Amino acid sequence: MEARLRIESSGFEARDVREIDLSIVVPLYNEEDNLAPLYRELKSVLDGYGHSYEIIFVNDGSTDGSSAVLETLHRDDESVTVIEFRRNFGKARALSAGFSEARGNIVITLDADLQDNPVEIPRFVERIREGFDLVSGWKYERKDPLSKTLPSRLFNSVVARTTGLPLHDFNCGFKAYSRSLVDNLNIYGELHRYIPALAFGDGFRVAELPVDHRPRLHGKSKYGWERFTRGMLDLLTVLFLTRYMKKPLHFFGSLGLVFMLFGLAINTYLAVIWFMGESIGRRPLLNLGVLLMVLGVQFISTGLIGEMLTHSHKGDECSPVARKLSRSDERGA
Ligand code: UDP
Ligand code: MG
Repeated sequence: MEARLRIESSGFEARDVREIDLSIVVPLYNEEDNLAPLYRELKSVLDGYGHSYEIIFVNDGSTDGSSAVLETLHRDDESVTVIEFRRNFGKARALSAGFSEARGNIVITLDADLQDNPVEIPRFVERIREGFDLVSGWKYERKDPLSKTLPSRLFNSVVARTTGLPLHDFNCGFKAYSRSLVDNLNIYGELHRYIPALAFGDGFRVAELPVDHRPRLHGKSKYGWERFTRGMLDLLTVLFLTRYMKKPLHFFGSLGLVFMLFGLAINTYLAVIWFMGESIGRRPLLNLGVLLMVLGVQFISTGLIGEMLTHSHKGDECSPVARKLSRSDERGA
C-alpha cells in the first residue's frame, strides 16, 4: 500500500513538473503551403532564443496535404508534436487540444497562415514574465480586406464596452498564456474569440501587445461575414458566463420579478375596476396581465433550476486562488 502510494505520487509529480519553458500551439485547417515556411520561421526564432521549447501543430481535420507536411516535420524534428482531428471541429477545439498537450510554463498560440510573425515571440514572453497571465496580440495595422477589418472593428468595440476589458483586438490568434491560466481555461464552440474576456472575468491579468501582421499569401481565410452574427451570439454566452454563471437566479430572477410586478399591477387595477362594477372579461389588458405574471413565474423557476445546476457543478469552477504565501522558503525547506 505504502509503495503504491509513493508510485502514484511520484507519477503525479512527473506529470506536474514543467520541463519545458515554451509551448508553441498552432491550430490549422487546410494550410499545406504555409506549414513549412512557418516551421522554418519558428525554428529560426526559437533555436537562438535560449529557452527549451516544443511546437504543437493541431490539425483540425484538414482535407488538403497538411497532414503529409506535418508528418515530415514530426519525423525530422523531436520538438514537433502533431495532433490530428478526425474531422474539422473548429479553432476553439483545436486550441483546447493544444492546451491539454502543452507542457510549457508559457504557452504561445499563433495562426498557421503566416499572418502572425514569429519574431514577436520574445516580446510576448517578456510581458508574461512581467506578471501578466494573458498577453493578447493587437494587429494594429491589419493586412486584411475591408470586408473583414470593418465588421471586426465594430465587433471589438462592442465586446470591449460590454465586457469592460479595453482591448483593441479580441480575435487575434497570436497570444501568450501563463501556466496558471492554461490550467484554468475552459473553451468550446467558438468561444476562442472571448478567451481574454473570460480570463479577465476570472480575475487573470490581461495585457495587449501590438504585433506585426502580414497579408495571407497562401490558402483561404476560414471565416466570412457569418462569424459576426455568431460572434454576437457568443457574446451573450460570455456575458452570461462571466457575470451570472455563479448566480443565475440574479439574472432570471430579476427579469422574472419585473414581469411579475407589471403583471400584478395590471391585474390589481383590473380587479379594482371589476369590484366597482365594470366588466373586464373582454379587455386585452387582462391577457397582458396574466401573460406577464406567468412569464414572471417561468423566469424565476428557470433561475432556480440554474441555481441547482450551479450547485451540482461546484467542482468545475475556476479556482480563485492566485498564489498562497508560504513560509517553507524562509525555513530553507
Ligand atoms: N483554423 C482552424 N480550424 C478552423 C478554422 C481555422 O484551426 O475550423 C485555423 C486556421 O488554419 C488558421 C487560424 O485558425 O491557422 C485562423 O484562421 P483564418 O486565418 O482563416 O482566420 P482569419 O485570420 O481570417 O481571422
Ligand atoms: Mg488569418
